[in-house]
Amino acid sequence: MSKVNTVLGTVPTEELGIVAIHEHIGYGMPGSELDTKWWKTPEQRYEETVPKLRQFHEYGGGTFVDATGICNGRDVDYYKSLSAKTGVHIVACTGFVGGDTALPHFARATVDYLTRQFVHEITVGIGDTGGRAGVIKVGVSRGGRMTDLDKRIYRAAARAALATGVPILTHLAIDAENAIAIFAEEGLPLDRVLFGHVDDGVNFDKTRDTWIAEQGGRVGFDTFGYETELEDPPFWARPRKERLDHFLRFIGQHLDKALASADANCSPLGWPGVKGHTVNYIFEDLFPDLRAAGVDEATITKLFVDNPAEFLTIRN
Ligand SMILES: [Zn+2]
Repeated sequence: MSKVNTVLGTVPTEELGIVAIHEHIGYGMPGSELDTKWWKTPEQRYEETVPKLRQFHEYGGGTFVDATGICNGRDVDYYKSLSAKTGVHIVACTGFVGGDTALPHFARATVDYLTRQFVHEITVGIGDTGGRAGVIKVGVSRGGRMTDLDKRIYRAAARAALATGVPILTHLAIDAENAIAIFAEEGLPLDRVLFGHVDDGVNFDKTRDTWIAEQGGRVGFDTFGYETELEDPPFWARPRKERLDHFLRFIGQHLDKALASADANCSPLGWPGVKGHTVNYIFEDLFPDLRAAGVDEATITKLFVDNPAEFLTIRN
């Protein structure tokens, strides 16, 4: 039987439903939890988060993939209670958003050490929560090129993916040549890797999305909703129509490889977040935009149910 790790246990792949493949319950830079300026009580975080997940569930959302890595505010006991309260499957990840968000303890670790850490979180659990990671997060540090630490993390992730059958999700798809070389050296099939953020306003013109798909990789248009039309847009925003057109061009060629999400924060940690942007952009804006552009229901199901299910399924 095909299955996926969620924070409340293993579920059959068929139960995932509509998947938001790259989201955050709460993302913050390492150390933000120590900054009193940004302190939030558990009650405040609940109040900000539960209505968004309930709404997601009401719209027909089945599964929320939390792409928050180690050191960025990941809190699996909290995710377990949110999942139980709202009925949304939550998939947590092991790994790091980028080498530059790994605390010194991990930044100094060897590939073997990192591999064991990732495998433990996937097969035994994260901390003492019993919740197992369902995805491995890796990423490119600020600067646009993979650092030596990024490369160690990618290599450890490839080994952990091969050992456990869990897939890899990347923060940024720039410098993909180096990433793909590491995955090839380790013998990891590229359909186990989702190269994310090909659509954001900073990186889209530096990202070889169709080339990645041609190599066999999956491609994430996962910053939907970060638009220049927002009241206070972030620096990675992009005009709504421009991103949509980019996505439509891509799915016209490589529908099998495409995944989409909003990369929103339910309750950001250590920063104010982006006002007016939630995971529910998928239902409230993206689905209507796709339908208006003539995309049929079968294609929407492929993008948000079938492709994520295939990607998330633990491969034996
Ligand atoms: Zn993200």
